Amino acid sequence: MPKKILLLILLCASLVMPGAPVSSTFQTPLAQQQQSQTVYITRTGHKYHRVGCRYLSHSSIPISLREAEANGYAPCSICNPPQ
Ligand SMILES: [Zn+2]
Repeated sequence: MPKKILLLILLCASLVMPGAPVSSTFQTPLAQQQQSQTVYITRTGHKYHRVGCRYLSHSSIPISLREAEANGYAPCSICNPPQ
């Protein structure tokens, strides 16, 4: 019995040890999720859109939500993209 417990502890330790502190492993997926949020802009407009918006019929340029906000794009009032 004690051997099994020791094995279990070793297994847990090997799972935790290789990575950085636990807090950062919890933060990373969330940050990636926010960065991978993609919205679409047009060549001439100043709004960003959700995929499939009718304003994207002429041009649709994929851009990350953060980039769109950083470049001064505002959310479209028709398709209501994420903010
Ligand atoms: Zn739109």
